[in-house]
Amino acid sequence: MSTKRDYYEILGLAKSASQDEIKKAYRKVAMQYHPDRNPNNKEAEEKFKEAAEAYEVLSDPDKRAQYDRFGHAAMGGAGRGGYGGSMNMEDIFSNFGDIFGEDIFGSFFGGGNRGGGRRGRGTRGSNLRVKIRLTYEEIAKGANKKIKVKKYVPCAQCNGLGAKDRNAFQTCGTCGGSGQVRKVTQTFLGQMQTVTTCPTCQGEGQTITSKCSHCKGEGRVYGEEMVSIDIPAGVGEGMQLSMSGKGNAGERGGAPGDLLILIEEEPHPELHRDGLNVAYDLHISFPDAVFGTQVEVPTIDGKAKIKIPAGTQSGKIFRLKGKGFPSVNSYEKGDQLIHVNVWTPQHITAEEKAILEKLQQADNFQPNPEKSEKGFFEKVRDIFS
Ligand SMILES: [Zn+2]
Ligand SMILES: [Zn+2]
Repeated sequence: MSTKRDYYEILGLAKSASQDEIKKAYRKVAMQYHPDRNPNNKEAEEKFKEAAEAYEVLSDPDKRAQYDRFGHAAMGGAGRGGYGGSMNMEDIFSNFGDIFGEDIFGSFFGGGNRGGGRRGRGTRGSNLRVKIRLTYEEIAKGANKKIKVKKYVPCAQCNGLGAKDRNAFQTCGTCGGSGQVRKVTQTFLGQMQTVTTCPTCQGEGQTITSKCSHCKGEGRVYGEEMVSIDIPAGVGEGMQLSMSGKGNAGERGGAPGDLLILIEEEPHPELHRDGLNVAYDLHISFPDAVFGTQVEVPTIDGKAKIKIPAGTQSGKIFRLKGKGFPSVNSYEKGDQLIHVNVWTPQHITAEEKAILEKLQQADNFQPNPEKSEKGFFEKVRDIFS
């Protein structure tokens, strides 16, 4: 499905890495492949992006937990623009600029060479969480869901600018438009210069002189959007998908947050999910168990006919290969396990009683498990091995 490298491998980390180690590792790799140090080097740029993608996931405890459980499938799951390498340089610098430490950007790379040192316009929107409930059938095949999401959307009147018009801006007086202010501090190592985001314009480099009347200068308003979500087959209860850019709109043209989609399973009236497998309890009558029969059983993909051979014991488990759930992560598929229960009558007539009493002493009716017949514990072991 993908040839993507493991996020831990990209950053040279162990699975148990702490948030601090993840941050340090990302910083190291990002420095190594930083475009300022590798001009016109496509390979370095790819590595730089790859590391940012790995960091975006591993630095977020929710996304990391999903990745640990489901791998890359959990990440790109919700259609395009998940993490499929879709982050561009702008995103990386606007989202993770501060990981490099603004002081390092300032001193190491000579400050102003990245878009004038400005952080870009606006403030990033927050992530949104929605729940989606899926039936077993939808989980088996994958589903497309269109949902109405109530959220902040860019203000249509000012196009997200927050200003009355394009001329209603002025260069920030505090930072002179650079978006950054430099501070010189005395430390025991001597004078140190640090560069921080301008507190007046929040790094935007300009301030609004006349605000948009519709959004009051925020550049966004509360509204709703129809979002079409492609859910891959094989997801499970508690899994979280992420659609980048579908969360709340940012303020004054800032990047939008992500939409996080929490999967819930709708219980099935007859089937029970157990990982990739599906379990079904089949009840047959005593005569059917003796004579053999054909029955129809529900599966997650319509009905299936199965043959019950003559002499089937209660507790027997039949396996419908490949009739379980697909794995969200690989081409693997589960099975459906059909557990046979032979029904013992609880009320009988005098006539039935007479027949059974005749059979009670008959040789063929004495339990005589064959040596080859597996016992309960062996069957359970076989199923779960
Ligand atoms: Zn400023
Ligand atoms: Zn507006």
